[in-house]
Amino acid sequence: MAGSGLLIVISGFSGSGKGTIMKELIARYPEEYALSISATTRGPREGEEDGREYFFKTKEEFLSMIEKGELLEYAQYVENYYGTPKAYVQEQLDAKKNVILEIEIQGALKIKEQFPQTLLLFVTPPSAQILKDRLTGRGTETEDVINSRLARAVEEADGCEVYDYLVINDELDAAVENVHRIIRGERQRMQHN
Ligand code: 5GP
Repeated sequence: MAGSGLLIVISGFSGSGKGTIMKELIARYPEEYALSISATTRGPREGEEDGREYFFKTKEEFLSMIEKGELLEYAQYVENYYGTPKAYVQEQLDAKKNVILEIEIQGALKIKEQFPQTLLLFVTPPSAQILKDRLTGRGTETEDVINSRLARAVEEADGCEVYDYLVINDELDAAVENVHRIIRGERQRMQHN
């Protein structure tokens, strides 16, 4: 995929606050970043809008996107499919933006395989208890789903050494600026190589 923007994958436990960091990063530096919007078969949470948080699809629609080669990668996460539409990512890279993919670890590995220069960031809350409190406090999932997501978090923690940077999300402002500094530094390093 040609283009002079940088591809950045950000993963982290459900409830790590990675979505909030990304929204804030884009609000602060709109000229530099674009956020990829994924397709999913998960239903919208309260307050989520089609085409803003996700493109909400039926399973049939999602399978058809796979078949037509419209996704850069896709994965299954706790009973639902999630995938990255190719066209938007290419457009934004061509416009020299850094494109952020907020995706889980299987997708991260598939992207890194296709685009070895991708920067992989992993966001974690400061402790397991804070993670559980954030998931419960969100009030959008049933206890079963929260437990599945916590189990998945334990699995993902095992794989997090493949990431280039670990970002501890203790305080939002500091986390946003840390991520911005990491990305700027990497981009400069690549331009000099
Ligand atoms: P949620 O249901 O909490 O919005 O997302 C569940 C998980 O799916 C999160 O870890 C999120 O990063 C991941 N995810 C969202 N979009 C994509 C995608 O396009 N591809 C992959 N592989 N994972 C995604």
